[in-house]
Amino acid sequence: MSTEESSRRGLILINTGPGKGKTTAAMGTALRAVGNGMRVLMLQFLKGSWHYGELDSTQAFGQNFVLKQMGRGFVKVGGAETDPEDIRMVQAAWVEAREAIMSGEWDMVVLDEINYAIGYGMLDPAEVVETLRNRPEMVHVILTGRNAHPSLVEIADTVTEMREVKHAYQKGILAQRGIEF
Ligand code: ATP
Ligand code: MG
Repeated sequence: MSTEESSRRGLILINTGPGKGKTTAAMGTALRAVGNGMRVLMLQFLKGSWHYGELDSTQAFGQNFVLKQMGRGFVKVGGAETDPEDIRMVQAAWVEAREAIMSGEWDMVVLDEINYAIGYGMLDPAEVVETLRNRPEMVHVILTGRNAHPSLVEIADTVTEMREVKHAYQKGILAQRGIEF
């Protein structure tokens, strides 16, 4: 076994913060992994109503890069107002995510926007921490979304906070094809 192989281990990465680039950086890392012969599953918590370009581009990679939208694409924020249907979908997404991580079938699992689901109180961070701690040791996991929970930041290996310098939206420019979707 080469030194590189013997030192290989699964990492936990978090892309958080208010600036743009959390999901797309995760996809860039996924693309890098797929190029190394690794199999990547990306589960998008909360997303569902928009058609993102990456849904089509990942299909070119067949079963080596699988992207699934697990939500409805819009969520009412706030405890009492949270729609039970959204909670049910987040819970279902989490069950699938946990099984995928534990199965050892995937070299990398991306949990896109999971930080929002946790932030909205739709998913218990302690459950996520427990799964990540007990996962097969070679599996890389990437979590995205603003306001990453402190308990997840603590167990992560690499945490990046995107800082907003400016965003086109502030000038009234609406979401652009190829940039936002
Ligand atoms: P991306 O998917 O482009 O990498 P992201 O994952 O960092 O963005 P999210 O919080 O998931 O950002 O928000 C998704 C959408 O909101 C994207 O279309 C993105 O362009 C837009 N967005 C992200 N940050 C900002 C911001 N600071 N102001 C306005 N819109 C934003
Ligand atoms: Mg995102």
